[in-house]
Amino acid sequence: MDLFRASLQHVHNVSVLLVFLCLVSSAHAQSNSSAPDLVLAGQVTGSQDKTHFEVPFEVPANVHRISVDFDYTGKDEKTVLNLGIADPERFRGTSGGNKSHFTISETDATPSYLPGLIPRGQWKLLIAVPNIRPQSSSAYHAEIRFNARAEDRGFSVAPLAEGTHWYRGDLHMHTAHSDGSCMSQSGKRAPCPVFLTAQKAAERGLDFIAITDHNTDSHYDEMRELQPYFDRLLLIPGREITTFWGHFNIFGVTQFIDYRVVERGGLSVDDVVKDVVAKGGIASVNHADSPGGEVCMGCAWEPPVPVNMSEFTGIEVINGGRLMLSSADVWEKQLRAGLRLTAIGGSDNHNAPADAAQAGAIGYPTTVVDARELSVTAILDGIRAGHVFIDLTASHDKLLELDVRDGSSEARMGDSLAIRSGEVVKIELHVVACPQAAVHLLVDGKDREPSAPMPAAGGDETLKTTWTSDGGRHWIRAEVRDSAGKLLLLGNPVYINFAAR
Ligand SMILES: [Zn+2]
Ligand SMILES: [Zn+2]
Repeated sequence: MDLFRASLQHVHNVSVLLVFLCLVSSAHAQSNSSAPDLVLAGQVTGSQDKTHFEVPFEVPANVHRISVDFDYTGKDEKTVLNLGIADPERFRGTSGGNKSHFTISETDATPSYLPGLIPRGQWKLLIAVPNIRPQSSSAYHAEIRFNARAEDRGFSVAPLAEGTHWYRGDLHMHTAHSDGSCMSQSGKRAPCPVFLTAQKAAERGLDFIAITDHNTDSHYDEMRELQPYFDRLLLIPGREITTFWGHFNIFGVTQFIDYRVVERGGLSVDDVVKDVVAKGGIASVNHADSPGGEVCMGCAWEPPVPVNMSEFTGIEVINGGRLMLSSADVWEKQLRAGLRLTAIGGSDNHNAPADAAQAGAIGYPTTVVDARELSVTAILDGIRAGHVFIDLTASHDKLLELDVRDGSSEARMGDSLAIRSGEVVKIELHVVACPQAAVHLLVDGKDREPSAPMPAAGGDETLKTTWTSDGGRHWIRAEVRDSAGKLLLLGNPVYINFAAR
């Protein structure tokens, strides 16, 4: 017999008073502001002082997350109710009186609670009454939500910052949960704790990070613990889906994703990406033009069967792992084919404390996303929209904005415009904090002939030019390079005459 069952049998005065179970809606809560799936409510009276009781409720099939919000009256009379939970088989944790909200899923749980399978059947809230005065009574109210979407996307239900802004982050990093390592206390190489990754990212001034350990989802539980502490650094659930024929990152999903791609007769890359998208996430090809073979097994993008690239949202055009490996050619091949894949970057950090001069240092490169707020949903939407540039210098202030206007409409980085042949568009580039730099305007990936790069003095500058459409499909984007030609900023295109995404 397990310890928990034994202990329950010895609980005296187990009483369930006036419990009202109401099935409010089906099991698809959108967020914690949505209607709960179940409300459990009841009264506790003075006779229950220093007792425990259980409130049972039914969990249907196909639930992968349970979220609970708990409140009660009488705190002004010093009534205290403590909270815990048990599934049909075992104890899943207690938070005493210190948490009024918690979530438990297959991969992660609020500290105090155990992640793991969410079996269907009768679960119980475990309520303890450390204090209630003899004449007092207290009404408790527990809201239960199944598969709460906001908590499947990330580890904070509320945005960490409000307002449209360019938010800066690193979208590719590894920890102890895969092959990330760093020096231990005694100077030996050791699996590197997730905390150090978050701490270094916070030190570098980043607004968000995605920790993308290879195929596994075991880092999410720790990320959920860390998020309230790192309340200015958004932690995005990520994984690097690592196949024998290429790697791709997925973002914004905490549920299990089968990664076991085979050459034929089983799971394909398309199947994996469809699963990610169906669960609300996005996918982005990593270090596509990395060497492969025995130099770096599985690193090059060489899927055994053709992949439907339109299911992907992005491509990691700058990978910091090998001193800023660039996959611009692979990206531009997709653009030539008419796909609008957003260029993003990632450090591919495997050693959290690495200093800025080392390959793969956190924040090198930084992906800068124009988003309406600092939340997982808004950052992913910004990437989907292509409102993104890559800062290879990990600065806090460099900016690259691109606007293309015809008479009636305007498009910025990531947007598209339909422009007839012969029509002249106005192009405006906004470049901030790039001293002695040259701004290159590229059409279809090439410096526009015959115009030369435009110099940027280093302050806050707006550069203007024009371009005449031939009515065909083109993409216009900008890069900023230093006086030695080294890439500083890489912007996403404005798409001319592309089909809608
Ligand atoms: Zn990789
Ligand atoms: Zn990686």
